[in-house]
Amino acid sequence: MSYDTNNVFAKILRGEIPSFKVHEDEHTLCFMDIMPQVDGHALVIPKQPAETLFELSDDSAQACMRTVRQVGEAMKKALGVEGIVLMQLNGTAAGQTVPHFHIHVIPGSIADLRKP
Ligand code: 5GP
Repeated sequence: MSYDTNNVFAKILRGEIPSFKVHEDEHTLCFMDIMPQVDGHALVIPKQPAETLFELSDDSAQACMRTVRQVGEAMKKALGVEGIVLMQLNGTAAGQTVPHFHIHVIPGSIADLRKP
């Protein structure tokens, strides 16, 4: 599987399209989802050019989870929620639409996402 360097998250990483960034470090970036499932819906991505979990290095995976934990903690405090939902899709067959690995970090409950 070859990585598409023109995907939107690669462009966000290169600063070619804007995003609302909430966290950045050497290995990861977190920004707000442009079409949030609920208020506060954020995305954590690695700087490594990896399409799915299966191309992600162990170091990038660890860095992503560290960022997810920091962002999740901040969401709990800032938004006053107790629950944080993580969602992560691999491959178009799973419904992945942007071919750069990403973890959805969604404040609240899975019940909020299941509301019609
Ligand atoms: P997926 O379905 O691949 O798991 O999720 C992709 C997510 O990326 C969607 O929730 C979608 O709203 C978000 N997204 C797509 N394009 C952009 C964009 O240009 N900017 C931002 N911030 N989010 C995007």
